[in-house]
Amino acid sequence: MAASTAARHPAAFAHGRRHSAVRACASTTPQPASEGRTTPRRLLLATAAGLAPALAFAGCACASDERVGKVAHSAAEWRALLPAESYRVLREAWTELPGSSPLNKEHRAGTFTCRGCEANLFPSTAKFDSGTGWPSFYAALPGAVREVGDYSIPFLPRAEVRCTTCEGHLGHVFADGPPPTGMRYCMNGAALAFVPTA
Ligand SMILES: [Zn+2]
Repeated sequence: MAASTAARHPAAFAHGRRHSAVRACASTTPQPASEGRTTPRRLLLATAAGLAPALAFAGCACASDERVGKVAHSAAEWRALLPAESYRVLREAWTELPGSSPLNKEHRAGTFTCRGCEANLFPSTAKFDSGTGWPSFYAALPGAVREVGDYSIPFLPRAEVRCTTCEGHLGHVFADGPPPTGMRYCMNGAALAFVPTA
């Protein structure tokens, strides 16, 4: 039932199962201050980590723009091309309910691709169980995704993750992931597809 209902974070948290709202899609492990200079990205992640509890009461609408990538369609065309759930996530930056994606249980060898444009995004070898209910990865394929500042929640800047090819919204990235990168790409399964290794 959940698979047909996209929701912004408050609803998602309200339906969280064994996962706490905070853990759901935010960093709960504040990272130590980076050594040397602080890059905008590190500042973004550190700030998000420190203010994670506020997420429980905040929406998840990301910075809105035209989202026009190398693969581009009109809104009407995207609606015709994508299932409703995938459209809301990819093109309107909604967040699916945690635990709703079949890809949470996808453990075969292969590649996770963009549901919008079929670009290769994440190798199965980088997938891990974050306990959040969203497919999570510690790394993306080189150049496959890009990060955009998400300032939709006052005082809680986050790093939105988009498909580089079609600019579709995939999720967010946090600095509380496992080795070797320490990053957690918290993705919406509705934004992804899976292609098993032949
Ligand atoms: Zn894409």
